[in-house]
Amino acid sequence: MSAGVTVRVPAKVNVQLAVGGARPDGYHDLANVFLAVGLYDEVTVTPADSLTISCTGADADQVPLDRGNLAARAAELLAARHGIEPNVHIHIAKDIPVAGGMAGGSADGAGALLACDTLWGLESPQSALLDICAELGSDVPFSLVGGAALGTGRGERLTVLPVGGDFHWVFAVAYGGLSTPAVYREFDRLNADVAVPAPVASSQLLEALRTGDTSALAGSLVNDLQPAALSLRPSLADTLAAGTAAGALAALVSGSGPTTAFLAKDADAAAGIAEALLASGSCRTARATGAPARGATVIQYSGAVS
Ligand code: ATP
Repeated sequence: MSAGVTVRVPAKVNVQLAVGGARPDGYHDLANVFLAVGLYDEVTVTPADSLTISCTGADADQVPLDRGNLAARAAELLAARHGIEPNVHIHIAKDIPVAGGMAGGSADGAGALLACDTLWGLESPQSALLDICAELGSDVPFSLVGGAALGTGRGERLTVLPVGGDFHWVFAVAYGGLSTPAVYREFDRLNADVAVPAPVASSQLLEALRTGDTSALAGSLVNDLQPAALSLRPSLADTLAAGTAAGALAALVSGSGPTTAFLAKDADAAAGIAEALLASGSCRTARATGAPARGATVIQYSGAVS
């Protein structure tokens, strides 16, 4: 048996995404409340002669298999810090929609990082892994920790948040993706003549998470990128309306979209909303799942046998 490590890593939804005006460096300050949800990619690393990547899953053809893949960059950064060669094969079993606003690439970056750290026996402290995650991208640190967290700065400075119960969600996957930078550019265009306030986390929303109160959470969901995503993809309004008509307590665009997210009162309601969304023809697929989900987790580790 050859050595291999598999890490399971969740998608996220932003239950609050408060976006400030564009900074001089082009980034935006955020108050970004992440919630990890039960859609997962699995990242497996095995020793190889050089760094290679493969990917399977419905969206696999849209995933770069070169060094631009965040999973490859994670392996390279970790190896460089330890003065070793990143000689691994990385296989991504992809179930998170690509370019869907659910941080699928970030999930693979965090997954590959933990998998390589485990395979190479580095036992890095979480703080060291989080540093590399922040270097890889704003959403990557959260993929490592999971659960719920408030991200400030570009979203990468995390404070873990308590969650007092389970929430039931449906995600409607759109036809095609949306580029996150394009959505931010549209946000800037739409707000060109507006004094955009500094982003602040909603205390009502944090309390709803802490107490596990679904109705209160439904009443406080907010995504400042939603007008920009709807401007670039007006048909998302039909998907939001279809889920609301099917009984969702709240509906919003997930992150930069175009995935849309629906909060349901319980698992049965979520199954019904998913069915209605599929029947509406306004999305490619609809998935019911729970939250919060665990962050990147080693689910299989086979040591080399000589
Ligand atoms: P976010 O929610 O973090 O803004 P997203 O979910 O909208 O991201 P991703 O699925 O992360 O989008 O993919 C965005 C782009 O990143 C893809 O179009 C692809 O070119 C690139 N990419 C790099 N690595 C990966 C990866 N491992 N999986 C998917 N896409 C990747």
